[in-house]
Amino acid sequence: MKPDYLIVGSGLSALVFGALMAHAGKKVHILEAHEHAGGFGHTFTLSKDYTFNAQLHYVWDCGEGHTVNRVLKKLGLDQTVTFERYDPQGFDHMRMPGYKLDIPSDLQELLRRLMDLFPEAGDRLSRFIHDVDKTREGLKYLSPPIQPLEVLQHGGEVFCAIQYLNSTLQDVFDKFKLPLPAQTLLALQWPDFLLPPQQLSFYAWVLLFRGYQEGAFYPTQHFEHVIDSLVQVIEEHDGKVLLNQEVTKFCVTAQTVTGVEAIDRITHETREFSGDTVICNMDPKKAAKMIGISQFSKTVQRKLNYEYSPSNYMAYCVVKDLDLRDYGFGKWNVFHTEHPDLNEAFAQMYEHHDYSKPSFAITTPTLLSDSVRDCPPDCQIVEFLTVANYAYFHQLRQESPKAYRLKKQEIFDSILDVVEAHYVPNFRKHLVFHVTGSPTTNERFCWCPQGNSYGSSLTPQQMTLGRLNHHTSLRNFYFCNASSGYPGFAPTFWTGALLYQNLSGDVILGNS
Ligand SMILES: Cc1cc2nc3c(=O)[nH]c(=O)nc-3n(C[C@H](O)[C@H](O)[C@H](O)COP(=O)(O)OP(=O)(O)OC[C@H]3O[C@@H](n4cnc5c(N)ncnc54)[C@H](O)[C@@H]3O)c2cc1C
Repeated sequence: MKPDYLIVGSGLSALVFGALMAHAGKKVHILEAHEHAGGFGHTFTLSKDYTFNAQLHYVWDCGEGHTVNRVLKKLGLDQTVTFERYDPQGFDHMRMPGYKLDIPSDLQELLRRLMDLFPEAGDRLSRFIHDVDKTREGLKYLSPPIQPLEVLQHGGEVFCAIQYLNSTLQDVFDKFKLPLPAQTLLALQWPDFLLPPQQLSFYAWVLLFRGYQEGAFYPTQHFEHVIDSLVQVIEEHDGKVLLNQEVTKFCVTAQTVTGVEAIDRITHETREFSGDTVICNMDPKKAAKMIGISQFSKTVQRKLNYEYSPSNYMAYCVVKDLDLRDYGFGKWNVFHTEHPDLNEAFAQMYEHHDYSKPSFAITTPTLLSDSVRDCPPDCQIVEFLTVANYAYFHQLRQESPKAYRLKKQEIFDSILDVVEAHYVPNFRKHLVFHVTGSPTTNERFCWCPQGNSYGSSLTPQQMTLGRLNHHTSLRNFYFCNASSGYPGFAPTFWTGALLYQNLSGDVILGNS
């Protein structure tokens, strides 16, 4: 029987939408090109013993009444899909030569720590923090579904937010004349956006920074449990998640999408699938090209003309007979830069492929939950993340697989040199397994064009008014992914839930 919803892709927004619809009694079929569900959130096992999550580290908006919690409650999963909180005294540890700052949950405590480090800039820091807080409040009332009465009641906050509509984080740092090291410490979580302050939307930074302050979380039973639980809801309600099905064509008649063609990546057979409504979780621009851009309205065509976010480099590592807690790691992330200026650091790595002064994130998933994971008890997992240029890696891989491998190794060595110098002497001696991923790895395993990390790039131009949403202008066809909502675990929960809410009329979202 034809499903009510045929979904292309099993990324988080698709699974959330699909689970909510299935739970509400609709028949849902999902077609996923990869052998695992979850998109960027999928989990993979290597060397039999070691399990890694592809691209999720920590998440926000999971507390009581917040988006993730509301969705899980609606699905009856809130008692089984639970989260561990990062250390509220310091969930992100920012490190650069000569400076250290642990970001606490409390904004006033953050201000106090910043003032201790930069007493001469106290007043400017205080005004900056004030506007960060007010902008966050204003954005709550400006995010859809907008309630005009609430916007009026919170005019001060809304006005504060609106004045930064087109601002980058750097614009706001400059407005308040913050000292460069203070800027660097505050923006060191740049791998969460893969953009430097000069290009990053101030809104994007505020939402993530304040979101994590309200609570940075890690799933008690790791990310695969979240993905598996959403899949289970779909399957328990007579739905299907079909893996290894790569959609190669959308069937469109008279501006109406009726189904798709997909090739089975194991048997190489091509099959047609139809659905009353088709939901597109794969990259909207790529899907639109498959359909024919001219089929879309001029407004949607304009919105589809987005630039992709930069891609990334990942190193997934296993260390043995080493407790990372003895070396400054714990229920927090560590963000490190060797270069004191993040705009420069980013340009060196992204534009010049020079990793001699790297800036990167270090995450330690085994330290975040006591739940048993597929990693032997004498081992711990540690992951490193930084930016990388797709065009460069793509060309290297095409021209010389050896040069491609050497470049990945060079970046890894540069990161490990910093790790051994500042954190864990003899780290390499304890390293029993590692695998590195480049922009082309992202493209191969997450099917993201140009290996993009966060969908459309999080610049001010692309974060606000001209941003794509669910609307496609074709009948029975909706977009539902990071680029047509917002990237990140909680934002993709929100994206899937918002589409569910719009199509079903069942209101589940609040202003979180
Ligand atoms: C390096 C990195 C680190 C990150 N860290 C975090 C973090 O710490 N916290 C956080 O909250 N977020 C993080 N994110 C962001 C988060 O992972 C993503 O924003 C989110 O998972 C995207 O979900 P999505 O719904 O857009 O779908 P996607 O994950 O983009 O999934 C799309 C799915 O569609 C499938 N697909 C594509 N084409 C086809 C086709 N033709 N046929 C069938 N299927 C197809 C793909 O295989 C994929 O499964 C990170 C992302 C990256 C890259």
